[in-house]
Amino acid sequence: MKTESTNPEASREVEAGKKPVVLSGIRATGRMHLGNYLGAMRDFVTLSERDDRECFFFVADLHTLTTLPDADQIRRNVPEIVLSYLAAGIDPERSTIYTQSSVPETSELFWLFSNLMPVGELLKSPSYKEKAQMHPDNINAGLLNYPVLMAADILGPRAHFVPVGEDQYTHLENARDIARRFNNRYGDFFPLPQPLQQSGIRVPGLDGTGKMGKSDGNTLDLVDTPDEMWKKLAPAVTDPARKTRKDPGNPDICNIYTIHTYVSTEEELNWVREGCTTAGIGCLDCKKTLHKNISDLLAEYQERHRDLSARKGYAEEVLREGARRARKVIGETVREAQDRMGVAAYRGSS
Ligand code: SF4
Repeated sequence: MKTESTNPEASREVEAGKKPVVLSGIRATGRMHLGNYLGAMRDFVTLSERDDRECFFFVADLHTLTTLPDADQIRRNVPEIVLSYLAAGIDPERSTIYTQSSVPETSELFWLFSNLMPVGELLKSPSYKEKAQMHPDNINAGLLNYPVLMAADILGPRAHFVPVGEDQYTHLENARDIARRFNNRYGDFFPLPQPLQQSGIRVPGLDGTGKMGKSDGNTLDLVDTPDEMWKKLAPAVTDPARKTRKDPGNPDICNIYTIHTYVSTEEELNWVREGCTTAGIGCLDCKKTLHKNISDLLAEYQERHRDLSARKGYAEEVLREGARRARKVIGETVREAQDRMGVAAYRGSS
């Protein structure tokens, strides 16, 4: 974790005797991969080990429905993501791990917030435009309302900090806007969540385009065996100038070299740089070293993952306990928001 905002806007709003809340969610669209691990999960583990933070990690299964209407796949993906969090080292006793759908109060808050969000702003959202372009046959209202549900995710546990990548600042800004509008209309209640900058590691995809992405089929998955990993790595795109073994290349434009910089030693990086630019090594030599380093890096994770997977029902147990804890916290938020909005008079006891 590189930096944490010290903006007093969020920290001054931490209630006496409570710790600042950190929240992060991930969609259940596929298996976790090296990009998730290097770019986010290791940071989450560090955060979750801090005694001065309260961490909430959730699987955004409701968000997943906007682009993946495959019930079986979502059912499979959710516990797998939880196992990934646990195998990476997040302790479910210290952090609250839950699914979005197991906290119906989040959806109630979504509705309350919908009344504070102009449709014009939703239509202008970059993520809506991008997803609508990617899924022209399925431009559903969920895609449009995504930022409002995300605001409910963030403000439900009254999060103070949200780890975000560069491409997610807009969503956080939406949540801050909604919190501001609520506070202006109904009195100060929600902290304005601040971004936590992550490591900044952006792992490129094996196809040489953009970053590794669950939906793009260009990943090295965290549970890949060494053989599976090699089958993906060996044909991965490199510098196109290296048409044959004799052609020199340029590591600075090669996605394989970029991945090396996250997992290899200085000595190995020099070896790649020298060998690549003089055609002293071939791309397969280069990839073999990378393959070994990634395998070593993930060995401990994979062992823990195997052990945890053997504990039948463990991920589900963690999620049930997480849901219980999350509902308590988020339920209190929603009841207070309803009170302030004048829609709680006949709620009865809860
Ligand atoms: S030798 Fe390595 S860095 Fe150079 S083009 Fe091949 S894979 Fe990329």
